[in-house]
Amino acid sequence: MVKDIQNLLNFIYPQVCFWCDTIKKESICSNCDKEIKKFSKFNIEKFPNGMEHVYLFKYEGKIRQKIIDFKFNEKPYLKNGFAMLFLQNKEMYSYLNKYDIIIPVPIHKYKEKNRGYNQSELIAKQISKSLKNVKLEKNIIKKIVNNKQQSTLNLKDRKENVKNVYKVLDNKKIIGKNIILFDDVYTTGSTINECDKVLKQAGAKKVAAVTIAKD
Ligand SMILES: [Zn+2]
Repeated sequence: MVKDIQNLLNFIYPQVCFWCDTIKKESICSNCDKEIKKFSKFNIEKFPNGMEHVYLFKYEGKIRQKIIDFKFNEKPYLKNGFAMLFLQNKEMYSYLNKYDIIIPVPIHKYKEKNRGYNQSELIAKQISKSLKNVKLEKNIIKKIVNNKQQSTLNLKDRKENVKNVYKVLDNKKIIGKNIILFDDVYTTGSTINECDKVLKQAGAKKVAAVTIAKD
């Protein structure tokens, strides 16, 4: 109930700048846009298995706080600002347009019910709307085990914790496709690697991990 009211408030609340929280017409005002561009950068890393990871920020400071607010402090409306960060970066925009499908990393249904939304799905949806031909597919991959929160575990336990927790429900849509796997934060890569593995096993051609920030 509290979440429903909060969602309603978020809906009727006037548009505020995602970064400075003042009422503005844009989801990122021009002053903040200039400020953000100073430390937002198209970063790309390539892994031996062929997967690429692209991201815009280091997971620190104000961007870290915004992600925490978005994820844990019931601020789903921040999705517009986050999506803008990806769409306004020219290198990122053209990189994303090379793919066929965008898949948000799923969260378990209990967690989604509790939070009210999947934070990665909200941003992926906004992004796909503004790309040329990249379709959002949110029901391809499912989290079938409600495992422990990754952030509470060390590297070794994180790898174990995500084993066999994701399942591909519909492989017809991904066979031979180039896929963006969207997540909010990249830490050890355990989650991304596990999703990459199941997508490739199901016939995906190429998978790129796209995140807001790297920890
Ligand atoms: Zn602003």
